[in-house]
Amino acid sequence: MKGLALPWTSVGIALVAAAAMPFAGASLWLAFAVLVVWLASLWLASPEPEIVQVRPEEGSVSRQAMVALVEPFSVPVLMLDRQRIASANAAAREALGPHIVGQDARVALRHPEAITLLDKPEGTALVRGLTGARSIWQVSRVAIDERFSLIELVNRTAEADISRAHTDFVANASHELRTPLASIIGYVETLADPDARVDPATSAKFHATVLREAKRLQTLVEDLMSLSRIEAEKHEFPRERIDIGQMAQTIASEVGFTVGDERILPETETGVVCGDRQQLDQLIRNLIDNALKYGDAQAPVTVRVHRDAGDVVLEVADQGEGIHPDHLPYLTRRFYRSDPGRSRAAGGTGLGLAIVKHIVERHRGKLDIASTLGEGSTVTVRLPLAAPEAAPTAA
Ligand code: ADP
Repeated sequence: MKGLALPWTSVGIALVAAAAMPFAGASLWLAFAVLVVWLASLWLASPEPEIVQVRPEEGSVSRQAMVALVEPFSVPVLMLDRQRIASANAAAREALGPHIVGQDARVALRHPEAITLLDKPEGTALVRGLTGARSIWQVSRVAIDERFSLIELVNRTAEADISRAHTDFVANASHELRTPLASIIGYVETLADPDARVDPATSAKFHATVLREAKRLQTLVEDLMSLSRIEAEKHEFPRERIDIGQMAQTIASEVGFTVGDERILPETETGVVCGDRQQLDQLIRNLIDNALKYGDAQAPVTVRVHRDAGDVVLEVADQGEGIHPDHLPYLTRRFYRSDPGRSRAAGGTGLGLAIVKHIVERHRGKLDIASTLGEGSTVTVRLPLAAPEAAPTAA
């Protein structure tokens, strides 16, 4: 019901006019009737009160004050006047567009779950696809009074993505662990079965397979542990001063010793970064390992380190089949392989580049993978140069 929110100046004019009418010759009844009609029209035209009751015991807050209060909230908030969006804070205008102010909320939010919620005075609903096909919003409605209500929208998309990635990771890791385990169990059961009568040559072959699969399991578990360690430390910037040029040179010589010196061509210059020695060692080894695994077995692998515009740049380039451009954006995902058969045959876990990516991120660097089909691939890592060491002060 309307309160007595009359425009008192107009009421005053009506009273004066009605009082003056008898002096102008009008009858008292006519003056009274004009006054009644005038006041009634003023009452009907008067705006509804803009005062909303928040809690009876806490007094009242004007609508403008409440709009101003929610404006800086990072969570989108809408104020509804019955079903019309009377105002939307900055976060809501950004998420849903400024045009929603003045619209019917059932049109602005348009999804069936939201419409069901808007039919009730209060409640919560999960609305999918509100701001993008994969988006998930938790929409809550709180009534302020019979006329006004607040709608709060909380974006749950990132949480859902993390939860999905977690589930996928556990499923993939379990699958990767189960395959070599099943193979080990199968071969050991056959070897242990007295009825199987395995001849010595076959037995030696089975033992070799068991050993290979056990080593694959070991590598997989080591890579999983590395990944979780790097992720746990990702917000701690490492402080040790490390010369990447020298480290790459040492690793290249070591690897060259096992695969043949002519396959690894180091071209390195000094470049000191602040880093984690073990992780940078792992990064360089993973990249050289991939170049050897996937590059042409006869062609050399180049390991270059140089300084460029405040960065140390490490490049590992191979010559070989290269990688199809469709695969390039996904290579750093856990367990992603562009050629699964080849990766597994070469003892790959599908985690090498994911580990590289996390190490680069922890060192605030940049990773780039470029490849041309039929020519080969170059992986480039840029890490910020360490500030020069302060000269020791004289005692
Ligand atoms: P993996 O253990 O399988 O080598 P990585 O994470 O190191 O896993 O690499 C992911 C995939 O990227 C590999 O399976 C391979 O298909 C592809 N890849 C990585 N490096 C190269 C390269 N230098 N040349 C061609 N393909 C590569």
